[in-house]
Amino acid sequence: MNTQPPALIECTDVVRIYRGVGVEVQALQGLNLRVEPAELTAIVGASGSGKSTLLGILSALDVASAGSVRVAGHDLMAMNASERARYRRETAGFIWQQTSRNFVEGLSIVDNIDLAASLVGGDRRRRAQRVREVVQLLDIEDIAEKPPVQVTGGQRQRAAIAIGLVNEPDVLFADEPTGELDEASSAQVLEAMRSVNERSGVTVLIVTHDPDVADHVRRTVQIRDGRTSSEVLRSTRVDAGGVERGVAEEFAVLDRAGRLQLPQAELDRLGMRERVRLGFGERHIEVHPETPQQDAGER
Ligand code: ADP
Ligand code: MG
Repeated sequence: MNTQPPALIECTDVVRIYRGVGVEVQALQGLNLRVEPAELTAIVGASGSGKSTLLGILSALDVASAGSVRVAGHDLMAMNASERARYRRETAGFIWQQTSRNFVEGLSIVDNIDLAASLVGGDRRRRAQRVREVVQLLDIEDIAEKPPVQVTGGQRQRAAIAIGLVNEPDVLFADEPTGELDEASSAQVLEAMRSVNERSGVTVLIVTHDPDVADHVRRTVQIRDGRTSSEVLRSTRVDAGGVERGVAEEFAVLDRAGRLQLPQAELDRLGMRERVRLGFGERHIEVHPETPQQDAGER
């Protein structure tokens, strides 16, 4: 029996197949992902690995071909069009790489934020107060009256975060939010997302091909060929000398069927292909090449 508490994001065996004339692309091939409430997670993968496809599905703009997708108690495979629209207004906020997807051109930044807030309705005074709150939270008071095209890329992405956050969503999704930024502005935008996550408790999921993002988040999940393959968790520990140190540990992802993807470089190094020999210890499982090697560590 599954006794785990509900996750905020739960993707199980998600498949997305794009069918065109004579071609078929399996963009997601049985992807599994679990994100707990208030977690800040980055999904990192090469171009074409399925990141935007996953985000399209999580943001209810697209529907998976198979599998199960649940976000904040919503079953994304079972929602109708109006439920999807409501989910996008109230449950999920987004930050896209392209400015044109984040803003209505011709409106100032603060008017863009207010427009997003107005889609939910409710009390006008409360709304104006909430707009001020997010402007402060993202530290964009001095650019709030400008149109998005007149500010720097980093400021623009902070403004996009404010828009994503104004309706107090359960989760904030960002697709390559630093894709068009230099290193310093990227770091600022990622720090802004981290601070928003810490201060408001909103769950944040960033997808990116930029491995540097890993420095700013506790959990990085690697996506490869439409599947999550490994994870790095960062934490701080106090060493024997009483000094606090950051440690990063890499984990392989085990899917529900017990499948495991081992790092290709290690498989090549050990000449592992097609078949491996397993060894079962009391507290671990060993993976050996099919033909035993001369190795002192071998048992
Ligand atoms: P990423 O965001 O990681 O670069 P995508 O999710 O955009 O990856 O794409 C994953 C795979 O799906 C790629 O092979 C891409 O060419 C293909 N793909 C994405 N969108 C479509 C589409 N609308 N029609 C057909 N193939 C697509
Ligand atoms: Mg993409």
